[in-house]
Formats: sequence, structure tokens, C-alpha cells
Amino acid sequence: MDTAKLQQQILAYDEELDRKYQRRLSVVTELERMLLEERYEFSLHYQPKVNLQTGKVQSLEALLRWHSSELGFIPPDEFIVLAEHAGFINQITDWVVTQAISDLALLQSKDIPLSVSVNLSAQDVTNADLLANIQQQLNQQQVAEHSFAIEITESDLLKEPEKAIRCLMEYRQHGFEIAIDDFGTGYSSLAYLKSLPVNVLKIDKSFVLNLDQQQEDQQIVSSILELAKSFDLHVVAEGIESAESLALLHNWGCEWGQGYFISKPLSFTALLEWYEVHKDTNWVE
Ligand code: C2E
Ligand code: MG
Ligand code: MG
Ligand code: MG
Repeated sequence: MDTAKLQQQILAYDEELDRKYQRRLSVVTELERMLLEERYEFSLHYQPKVNLQTGKVQSLEALLRWHSSELGFIPPDEFIVLAEHAGFINQITDWVVTQAISDLALLQSKDIPLSVSVNLSAQDVTNADLLANIQQQLNQQQVAEHSFAIEITESDLLKEPEKAIRCLMEYRQHGFEIAIDDFGTGYSSLAYLKSLPVNVLKIDKSFVLNLDQQQEDQQIVSSILELAKSFDLHVVAEGIESAESLALLHNWGCEWGQGYFISKPLSFTALLEWYEVHKDTNWVE
């Protein structure tokens, strides 16, 4: 390659890095400003999970949304990791937990028997105040502990495994359901899986999105289901986008499923409307 061309490529690479760096900086700056002013531009969306044995909707996953007045919509995959690095995650999770529990209380007041799971970061699980905070709010709002569940990603669990395990044990001792999220992407060993105080395994959507077309994904997913059975774990398949994928999972005995085929994550109001229409829908018929 001639030198001029190489120089041009380096320059383009520098500009790209610079652009990414600037973007991160502005996201963190906006996040910090919002949190300092306690002017939360967040909302929670809820994605239904269906019991693939009964075919009925049974629970919800709470997913955080941020519409920044300065920067527009910023997806959680972009800002959560920045919030973790900047030390903001605990404050964000406090907001999520409060909102989710108040929405749960509203569901309960409308006789809608759905439970809710929230996503926690590693730094939340090891935060000694969070569990007490959750219990206090459930108590205050008179919501049963079994209606509230947590999800933590496999890769987050692997960051400080001993500490995370110790903290998660406490959640389990209080009867909270704990799901290991994005399972299959974090390279944890089987022995390790056995030592984890989790009772639900969520198969990462990358294995499920094209399940109806990919032989390899079918092999991976059916082995994860076997594995889960031998460890006595419940399984959720996330990322179900077609009737064919749903049927495969149902036939393999996968217990729970979620994905765009059933519903995208919905605002609380949209969820209430969706539920009215779908409370008696049988998704596996
Ligand atoms: P996750 O917990 O694994 O959530 C599932 C993600 O997959 C969500 O993306 C959801 O919208 C998306 N999804 C669900 N079904 C389908 C499908 O059929 N097809 C496709 N293509 N995607 C599907 P979302 O809402 O953008 O969230 C991304 C990630 O951000 C979450 O992954 C979670 O790790 C993190 N996150 C979201 N909310 C929170 C939160 O409140 N706290 C923390 N710590 N992390 C959060
Ligand atoms: Mg999740
Ligand atoms: Mg996931
Ligand atoms: Mg994820």
C-alpha cells in the first residue's frame, strides 16, 4: 500500500475515534446534568413474557427508555454501560425500581396478575442498600415479593463472581426470582452455572432471532434447554420473532418466551391496552 493511502486511512480512523469519543462525552454530560437536577427523562417500557406451556401471558420485563431533551432518544445499550463507568447506575436503578414497583401496584389495583422483572447491573447487585430499598417499597405499596424479579447478565455476573454470588444469595433467601440474562454469550462453565444462586436462565436473543432458519442455533438452543433441565432451572427464550420459532421452542418444552412476535416493549398505557386484547390469547394454540 502506498504511504499516502495509509495516511488517509489513519486519518479516517482518528476521526471515527474522535466522533465516538465526542458522542460518549455528550451522553455522559447530559446524563450527569439530568441526574444532578433530578429531572428524570426516563420511562419504563414493558415487554410481555408468555408461558409456552399454557400459552398465556404471565409476566413483564421492564426496559428503560431515555428521551433526552438535548440528544433525543438514546438506547439503553448505549447509555447503561456509560452510566456504569461514570458511577451513575445506582441512582438510575433506584428510579427504575421505584417506577416498576409503583406500576406493579397499579396493575394489582386493576386485578392484572402479572409479575415484573427489572434488569440490574453488577454494581446494583453488590449495592448493599438496594435489596432493603426494594423490600421497603414492595411493603409500602403492598405488592407481594413473588411479583418482583431481577435479571442480571451472564457477563456482569462474571465481573466479580464471588461477591455477586454472595449478594444474589440474599435475594434468593428472600424468595426473589433471579434470571441470568443473555445466557450463552458470557462463556461461563457448567460447573460455574451450578454454583450460581439463580433459578431462571434467559437464552440470549442472538441464538433465537433466526431459530426457524438456522440449524446451528437450533442445536445450541436445544442443548441449553437440556442443560437447564438437568440443573432444574426455568428457561426464557428472548427474541422470538416468528410463529415457527415459537412452535420449535414450545415443542422442545421451553417454558417461557418473549419477543417481537408476541409484542415489542410497550409504554405502560399501551401495555394496558395490549393486555385487554390479549389476556385470553393462547399463543401456542
Ligand atoms: P435485555 O435485558 O437482554 O433485554 C432484551 C432486549 O432485547 C431489549 O432491548 C428488547 O427490546 C430486545 N428484544 C426483545 N425481543 C426482541 C425481538 O424479538 N427482536 C429483537 N431484535 N430484539 C428484541 P432494549 O430495550 O434496547 O434493552 C437492551 C439492553 O439494555 C437490555 O437487554 C438490558 O441489558 C439493558 N437494559 C434495559 N433496561 C435496563 C435497566 O433498567 N437497567 C439495566 N441495568 N439495564 C437495562
Ligand atoms: Mg433482561
Ligand atoms: Mg437478554
Ligand atoms: Mg442484552
